[in-house]
Amino acid sequence: MRTDILVVGAGYAGSVVAERLASAGRRVHMIDKRPHVGGNAYDEYDEHGVLVHRYGPHIFHTNSERIVDYLSDFTEWRRYEHRALACVDGKLLPIPINLDTVNGLYGLSLDEEDVETFFERVREPKKPALTSEDVVVGAVGRDLYEKFFESYTRKHWGLDSSQLGAGVAARVPVRTNRDDRYWTDEFQGVPLNGYTKMFEAMLDHPNYRSLRFEHEHLPDRSRYQQAPTINYPNEHDYIRVTEFKYVTGQEHSGTSIVREYPQSEGDPYYPIPRPENEVLYKRYQSLATQEKNVTFVGRLAQYRYYNMDQVVGAALKAAQNILGRATKTRV
Ligand code: UDP
Repeated sequence: MRTDILVVGAGYAGSVVAERLASAGRRVHMIDKRPHVGGNAYDEYDEHGVLVHRYGPHIFHTNSERIVDYLSDFTEWRRYEHRALACVDGKLLPIPINLDTVNGLYGLSLDEEDVETFFERVREPKKPALTSEDVVVGAVGRDLYEKFFESYTRKHWGLDSSQLGAGVAARVPVRTNRDDRYWTDEFQGVPLNGYTKMFEAMLDHPNYRSLRFEHEHLPDRSRYQQAPTINYPNEHDYIRVTEFKYVTGQEHSGTSIVREYPQSEGDPYYPIPRPENEVLYKRYQSLATQEKNVTFVGRLAQYRYYNMDQVVGAALKAAQNILGRATKTRV
């Protein structure tokens, strides 16, 4: 069979582009080196029957109604708001840092106004804030930076926060209220029957920093930990532990967890946002734009620290450009 388009990679970027082009009548051939669709969002039932995210926790969140509408053609949703705790000085405290984090850590009973004054006293603003260290020290001061960010970031990226672009730590907000949700986006959730089912529905039509995932099933306990995700900035080689049943809402007599160990070998999952990499990426980008009839889209193809909604948005745009171009040039 003749194909019009070859899509390399069956993650979000590839699947969205493939679906859009197939729906517009193009014949699409899709390849991936992994034996499954969904890229790093792939989920599956483990051998004990618990739905787990094979490549670490994925929680969808966005403020874009258009992107939710698009994905909703392929899945129903379980509305779910993610909450995480960080293990610091032997205490489990809300992360992102909020009023309760400060009170819990220091044994204080500040209110919203007091904590604003507290941050004003301890923060060391740098203008412009160029690095992730600048962002955090500029917002919450050195002590909170050291306890919650410094070692976690070194573990995650193998780099000091002073070597990483401001955008990395800026993903995590600082709050003076008691809101302990990880994100505040209007829409938050996971596909009701899992990500893989969503990708399968989408496709049901005629390279970076890596992680090692240690999955474990605990047969006789229905709960393992006190929060969906617990971050370990200072102890252990892993950065965080996620218990999937909180996320999926599944009922099961046992429970399954994943520990994430950052490493530099293996499949790349994260671009490393730092100035020298941006310069190198720009050189690739100028070569990429000279390629006729080849489009680069996705976290690794565009070297961007995309969230799931952002990569769907980028892929929808790329598909539109491809279709527009094809109409114009009658390919
Ligand atoms: N971070 C940290 N301590 C935490 C949580 C996050 O230092 O408890 C920093 C760290 O550098 C991390 C970045 O903030 O890589 C972004 O965190 P996020 O949770 O968005 O990472 P992701 O879920 O994309 O792995």
